[in-house]
Amino acid sequence: MISSTYQTITTGTDLFEVRLNPVSGFKALFANQPFEAGEELFVFKVKSLRDTPTYLTVQIDEKTHFEFEPEFLQYMNHHCDPNVHLDLNNYTLVALKSIQEGEEIHFFYPSTEWKMDRPFACHCGSEKCIGIVSGAHALSKTQLANYPLSPYIKSKLD
Ligand SMILES: [Zn+2]
Repeated sequence: MISSTYQTITTGTDLFEVRLNPVSGFKALFANQPFEAGEELFVFKVKSLRDTPTYLTVQIDEKTHFEFEPEFLQYMNHHCDPNVHLDLNNYTLVALKSIQEGEEIHFFYPSTEWKMDRPFACHCGSEKCIGIVSGAHALSKTQLANYPLSPYIKSKLD
């Protein structure tokens, strides 16, 4: 994808922007400034809770899934070598590595999702790529050891 094909969508914050690729129809979240590894990028809230997952929700317990507030965070895509982590103790986005201005923000979906509503084939291109992304249930403890995991996913592995 060439970045110039993207259309920018306003998020209401200067920190990030959502870009729509008019060819693929996919949206993605990009950093509008650099962040340091370990830095807290953003504090988010829970917009609503559901007892079943959708492709937009984040899992916090067996039957508890939330939608992001602000909503633009739902456009964070999955990556197998992610640059942010969802800290579900503090409801913050935390940088896992240094992030450049203009870089896409992504996280590792199985770090919060046990069994995903819509599994998909990942094309992130990372050496660590897990292939089919369907949630932590499908991965080994060794694969999951590379990522910070949510309290719920950790409890499932115990
Ligand atoms: Zn991947």
